[in-house]
Amino acid sequence: MRFNHLLLTLIVSLFVTNNLNAQIKVMAAPGNMKMAASNVFPKSNNVPIADSTNIYNEMLNDETDDLMENHPAGDIYGDIWTSDRLNPYRVPISSLPDSIVIDCSDFVMPVSVGRISSKFGPRRYRYHYGIDIALPSGNKVVSSFSGKVRIIDYEPGGYGKYVVVRHDNGLETVYAHLSAVTCKLDQRVKAGQELGLSGNTGRSTGPHLHFETRYVGNAFNPATIINFDSKVAYADNYTLTKRKNFGYQQVKAKTSQLAKYYRVRKGDNLSRIAARNGTTVSKLRSLNGLKSSSTIRAGQRLRIR
Ligand SMILES: [Zn+2]
Repeated sequence: MRFNHLLLTLIVSLFVTNNLNAQIKVMAAPGNMKMAASNVFPKSNNVPIADSTNIYNEMLNDETDDLMENHPAGDIYGDIWTSDRLNPYRVPISSLPDSIVIDCSDFVMPVSVGRISSKFGPRRYRYHYGIDIALPSGNKVVSSFSGKVRIIDYEPGGYGKYVVVRHDNGLETVYAHLSAVTCKLDQRVKAGQELGLSGNTGRSTGPHLHFETRYVGNAFNPATIINFDSKVAYADNYTLTKRKNFGYQQVKAKTSQLAKYYRVRKGDNLSRIAARNGTTVSKLRSLNGLKSSSTIRAGQRLRIR
């Protein structure tokens, strides 16, 4: 009897233990799943982080939103607010809407004195993404529209002391080579409110203000919206367009995309090279400045397009 009882107890306890294990396993599965899920989607971050490349897709797909209306800065830039980089958005020109209306009604010239010493456009070594206004150091530099100070930084080999302001109208402006910064990071500023003093810091060969206008990180010529002679904005509501304001980027891309070179091999001749590269002998001659009497030799670099 005693032995039988022991055996019975053993069998029962084994059964119970097994069952318990099974139960624990069943309980464990949903718990683990919950943990895994919360690791992927942390609770504190339920709002998806804005993907800068999708900002425009969202805007374009939002039927309640008319693209021709003004876009408050918050809509365009999503949650991206960082003082780390001038262009953290990385929105390619091709993703920009065809046109954007910018409210310029509160525009104030960033400086009240000075003359334009360098325009927006290509330079010998690098593209000049702003306008230079030469003026003595120590002059007031003010915010050209109302907004909020996003960056205050110092770049010894570039902008020197500079300030970036995100404006309510959707633009961002850059004020560089300052001798002093008199605003604070994240400070709300009105159009005309002082940001700093003009200077000659950074990569600069004389006291001047380097002024940039950008839309979601992409620079465009400030002279298209601002008449620097009469110191006013051209229109209260200015329409930026991809073609007019950002077309220069496409031209830049096209030139580098189209240029293609070929290294001449032994036994090559112009008509063979032309045929192989879908071009003509006369095009090859004009691209490479070759006369009809000119000969080509192996190793020579020819421009194909
Ligand atoms: Zn400049």
